[in-house]
Amino acid sequence: MNNIANKVVVITGASSGLGEATALHLAKQGATLVLSARRKDRLDQLVDTIVTNGGQAIAFKADVTVQTEVQALIDTAMNTYGRIDVLVNNAGLMSIAPMSLTKTDEWDRMIDINIKGVLYGIAAALPVFQKQKSGHFINISSVAGIKVFSPGGTVYSGTKFAVKAISEGLRHEVGGDIRTTTICPGAIDSELKFGSSDEQSAETVKEFYKMAIPAESVARAIAYAIEQPKDVDINEIVLRPTQQDF
Ligand code: NDP
Repeated sequence: MNNIANKVVVITGASSGLGEATALHLAKQGATLVLSARRKDRLDQLVDTIVTNGGQAIAFKADVTVQTEVQALIDTAMNTYGRIDVLVNNAGLMSIAPMSLTKTDEWDRMIDINIKGVLYGIAAALPVFQKQKSGHFINISSVAGIKVFSPGGTVYSGTKFAVKAISEGLRHEVGGDIRTTTICPGAIDSELKFGSSDEQSAETVKEFYKMAIPAESVARAIAYAIEQPKDVDINEIVLRPTQQDF
């Protein structure tokens, strides 16, 4: 048996892109999935696909910007399966625009989803992991969390730098029994590229994403981190399309 089979894995942002691809990949390896996002119809379809192929999954509607909903997600996973082995804090939004346009609504949304959403996931799952004396946080940052993606991606980069910093601090504080992995992907084909309201920036993003690689690339990286023996903590994985220089 591999080291993924029978693990209970909670994934936020599972209704499309990286989250969906990760759910399908881990289900094939025998993981039990708790899949969350706001678009419940998409989650239900994904659960149907997984179950039809012999896997195990449930869907739970939650907005990661609402702490009580994230807590309810973790509670539901615990009530259903009795433990959680992995939380993939994946839900995210990328709204690209020059700072001079001061799109403060989009700044707020990115901070709420990309940073506070991750923190709410940690707040809900950490007591569980500490009680179990085991657990694995997988937080999705970006290459934009290593280099500032500017002009346009400054605030998005700020949120992804924050994810990287929070992950590293978390690892340092709660390591021992609990593993923490930060994944920093480059351009991956998903719905993320449609998150910009500024037309010129949206066009630039569309061009840039012509080199994007499939979401399964990230799913395989996540599986690699999960499948390691429990005394091996893969702390960071950076992956890009071969063609990407940024
Ligand atoms: P998608 O847009 O395809 O997926 C984003 C997911 O997040 C969706 O499932 C969406 O579901 C969910 N989501 C958005 N807002 C909320 C919310 N408020 N509450 C709950 N769920 C929410 O993009 P990706 O799959 O590409 O993005 C996944 C992660 O990967 C993000 O954190 C992104 O920043 C990161 N990333 C992506 C890269 C790429 O090139 N694609 C590169 C580097 C990092 P719903 O709308 O149903 O709620």
